[in-house]
Amino acid sequence: METECTHLDQIQEVAPSADGCEDCLKIGDDWFHLRLCETCGHVGCCDSSKNKHAFKHFRRTKHPIIKSFQPGEEWGWCYIDEVMFESL
Ligand SMILES: [Zn+2]
Ligand SMILES: [Zn+2]
Ligand SMILES: [Zn+2]
Repeated sequence: METECTHLDQIQEVAPSADGCEDCLKIGDDWFHLRLCETCGHVGCCDSSKNKHAFKHFRRTKHPIIKSFQPGEEWGWCYIDEVMFESL
């Protein structure tokens, strides 16, 4: 894989924590797109959603890598290196 990311060892076999953004579900809010934390399986909403829970999850936990949780999308992203992966 062509990457400048040094966090690939933090990718785990994860099971999604919820079918939607778990933090939005708690507060009864909605989201635009979903992101899956590749370290712990947290499902959060994307940066185009008003609550940006995936990014907040990174800031809280330092889990660096997320993957799109949209059907048919395989790309990923490292928040620390700001590197995009075509498929994870
Ligand atoms: Zn990285
Ligand atoms: Zn959310
Ligand atoms: Zn996580």
